[in-house]
Amino acid sequence: MILGGFRPLCIGKVGKNTIFSSESCALDIMGAKLVRDVKPGEVIVVTNNEMKSYDCKNGQKDGLCIFEYIYFARPDSTIDGLNVHSFREQVGKCLAKQAPVEADFVAGVPDSGLDAALGYSKQSKIPYDMAFIKSKYIGRTFIQSTQNKRKKQVLLKLNPITNTVKGKKIILVDDSIVRGNTITRLIKTLRKAGAKEIHLRIASPKFIDICYFGTDVAKRNELIAVGKTTEEICKEIGADSLEYLSLENLHKIAKASNAKGFCEGCFTGKYPIEVPDEIQKDSFEKIF
Ligand code: SF4
Repeated sequence: MILGGFRPLCIGKVGKNTIFSSESCALDIMGAKLVRDVKPGEVIVVTNNEMKSYDCKNGQKDGLCIFEYIYFARPDSTIDGLNVHSFREQVGKCLAKQAPVEADFVAGVPDSGLDAALGYSKQSKIPYDMAFIKSKYIGRTFIQSTQNKRKKQVLLKLNPITNTVKGKKIILVDDSIVRGNTITRLIKTLRKAGAKEIHLRIASPKFIDICYFGTDVAKRNELIAVGKTTEEICKEIGADSLEYLSLENLHKIAKASNAKGFCEGCFTGKYPIEVPDEIQKDSFEKIF
């Protein structure tokens, strides 16, 4: 019995067997066929290879986490009929139209900025190149428990290609800015390697609120974008220019998905279901 809602979950078939996975790329690897996504609030019971579906949603709004398309999911996965790589490439194309700038090349922050950087390059006709090489042995930095650990991991994880970046004007594309530590260090690293200009383009709107649905993204006062203008953030992180994808453009791109509704609470502060206030969340954090 499996439920689906904020997080993606899909149904696959391999031979007569029914399988479930949070990402469709896992089905490809197993040689399974993607049947469909589990609907929000749907309960599925599989008995002797026979699948029965029950709607247990109880009137709640649909709220697929839009951050799955932006950051979490693998580009080779398809969620609700929309491939993650296509989504990100489309975001990059939109950013190129929304926030054009002259540069020698476009680079993505590995891995989740790469697809949008490719889209930006295709749309702007500015060459695509690699600014960083990523260590294969370091995981995602933002889930580390302390700022110190996160800082150390950024340096271990991403190394600039000095030959490529020296003396160049770079458009750097990243998926999002949460606390701002990672991007600040990356910009410093690029400057040290000789980059002439760094124009940062972010493949999502400003991250201004916390998540109550399984993503550990700090307290509101740790988020760099809270209460600041884009110009102020740009100065703080040390970029030459900064632009975020507009919420309007994010909505246009997300229309290609079959999802009937999204959660975009970290970008708007509005969630598809009622959430506790921050005082309750803070006191929970203090107890544990
Ligand atoms: S608040 Fe943000 S990260 Fe959390 S479920 Fe909603 S969109 Fe996803």
